[in-house]
Amino acid sequence: MATWRIGEVSITRIIELEFTGGTRFILPDATYDACREIRWLQPHFADENGKLRMSVQALVVETPSRRIVVDTCIGNDKEGRGVPRWNNLQGPFLSDLEAAGYPRDSIDTVLCTHLHVDHVGWNTMRVDGRWVPTFPKARYLMGRVEFEHWRDQRHDEGHRAVFADSVAPVFEAGLVDLVETDHRVSDEVSLTPTLGHTPGHVSVKITSRGEEALITGDFIHHPVQLTHPEWCSAADYDKAEGERTRRDVFARLAGTPTLVIGTHFAMPTAGKIVRDGEAYRLAV
Ligand SMILES: [Zn+2]
Repeated sequence: MATWRIGEVSITRIIELEFTGGTRFILPDATYDACREIRWLQPHFADENGKLRMSVQALVVETPSRRIVVDTCIGNDKEGRGVPRWNNLQGPFLSDLEAAGYPRDSIDTVLCTHLHVDHVGWNTMRVDGRWVPTFPKARYLMGRVEFEHWRDQRHDEGHRAVFADSVAPVFEAGLVDLVETDHRVSDEVSLTPTLGHTPGHVSVKITSRGEEALITGDFIHHPVQLTHPEWCSAADYDKAEGERTRRDVFARLAGTPTLVIGTHFAMPTAGKIVRDGEAYRLAV
């Protein structure tokens, strides 16, 4: 478990999955040969063969007044997932969350940066064959544009399954607030649009006592994209816009003390963006 402090706010990482290699389906340009040359990635973000390390994790943001789970991973018992090993997981996510001090009943806000399969899974859990909200006392914040986009997807069976078992049940339970991409959640926490990966994708900005952090969501999947902002995810909705977003955010944050916490970054997961030749790297 890792925890970071930003002023009066703590951010705690709850891991669901970690893996090394097998990431080409996410970043097709990231060949082993290309990644092996990028030495600053080792040892945290790649191994010596150029295999990328990644994780699927949730981040619990605790402010003086709120307990927020940012992105809810893949979830247990889910079926019909495009990635075979994401089907029917039986992981200890909820007990890990509780062991970190966050029993599910104590969460008052769930925030989805976007509505992809690995960001909405624990919105629900299976009880007696039905999908019920995992966090019954929470408001679930979802981007209005994002929600409408995925609700209206009729052709992709995988996306339909995700919406049906992980989004629709919380909406039908009346727990969803549809918000704009610049929504302010609390004094310390607000959304900021980082479009491209999905039509309504957001990152999460945390500011307290003069300190600042950014939880990325998936506008960047792996720190290697700091060296290669032009490397796009196979799952990007609009690749050109995704690249534009990365270049904008990197240029704005480079050299600043803002802590960048990567939604899929392997340990140590957070760092500061610094310039590195023509591009950037993550200083950890
Ligand atoms: Zn993701």
